[in-house]
Amino acid sequence: MPGFELIGNEEFEELKDLFDRSKILFRHGFDAIRNGVYKVRDFELAFAEHFGYKDALAVTSGTAALKVAIKAAGIGKGDEVITQSFTFLATVEAIVEAGATPVICEIDESLNMDPSLLESLITPKTKMIIPVHMLGVPAKMDQILTIARKHKLLVMEDTAWGCGGKFQGKYLGTLGDIGSFSFDFAKIITTGEGGMIVAKDQNLLDRAKAYHDHGHENNPKLPRWEDSRSSSGFNYRMTEMQGSVGLAQLKKLNTIVEAQRKNQAKIKSIVSQFQGIRFREVPETGEETADALVFFTETPEKAKEFRAAMLEQGLGTKILPEAISWHFAGTWNHIEELNSKYNSLENAFPKSLELLNKSVAIPIQVNMQEQALEKINSAMIKVFKGK
Ligand SMILES: *Cc1c(COP(=O)(O)O)cnc(C)c1O
Repeated sequence: MPGFELIGNEEFEELKDLFDRSKILFRHGFDAIRNGVYKVRDFELAFAEHFGYKDALAVTSGTAALKVAIKAAGIGKGDEVITQSFTFLATVEAIVEAGATPVICEIDESLNMDPSLLESLITPKTKMIIPVHMLGVPAKMDQILTIARKHKLLVMEDTAWGCGGKFQGKYLGTLGDIGSFSFDFAKIITTGEGGMIVAKDQNLLDRAKAYHDHGHENNPKLPRWEDSRSSSGFNYRMTEMQGSVGLAQLKKLNTIVEAQRKNQAKIKSIVSQFQGIRFREVPETGEETADALVFFTETPEKAKEFRAAMLEQGLGTKILPEAISWHFAGTWNHIEELNSKYNSLENAFPKSLELLNKSVAIPIQVNMQEQALEKINSAMIKVFKGK
């Protein structure tokens, strides 16, 4: 989770540069007095380039990125959007906020969307599929895209957790029609709060730009106060402070992912020495961000016991098993649109629930202390038998 672990001088220098040279904290306008400093725009262009695009749109959060993209795709009332049962509830909130109906697909042993169940959920109302690369493991994008193409549906990858991971050699977020990213404080790179959208269709991205900015088309021929507009919108604009931090964090993305992979491998070699555990499936051509190491225990009790043993060591687990209720759709009966769609929400996704209840996620850090390995080993010894 680790962008925040590396916040330091580079981020401060970017902010200092903003304050030294410009002091304009708004991304638009003030051209005569900002000295050519446009941090959000620079961040967008650098991000786009890293991911092989010409353009990108920065927004206020990953949740906003999802909503803005759904709106820009013209999806709303009466439309259905399919996502997966295991995700942060923001994915479903964004669908609901856009006015569409969320439809939930169960997960398989990769803990991501089960492509074998996806097609049965498609109806004439379905407009978009949102697979999520949960905890940094790539979703089975090949199978999901094949189904989507057959039914002419848009695919948006919720890449909040997948920034820097790959599938079939391509960056997560660039396989589908749209990629949405989060830079909240717990994500791979962070701007405190923030998000990004990339899209294959520049027209869609342009509509997203307008929507996130009250409909402003930023027509270069007009001053902003006389700007043209052709759709309604809202305000999801990123500030220049966030853009500054983002520029510095993006330069650290590769370092972060490499360090996580190395540390994940070390932890995996310890966990592998024990009986009664099975690792989460990672698709064959998938390259994780290695944000966590996830394994299944034989019973839900064992998962809870392991968390307790980790806490005793002064360590913790990550989401699984302790925060299932924020990440499993079967528990979200407070979301009316879900509650009314499913007769008995808590029993609607039995396969997902069974898998999640016996899952454990060990968080991976960039700056891992070697001591942590001994502590994890001690926690494992307490709960599982050695091989
Ligand atoms: C973090 C997260 C989001 C939301 O991002 P915010 O920037 O916190 O709004 C959306 N989807 C998933 C899967 C996430 O983990």
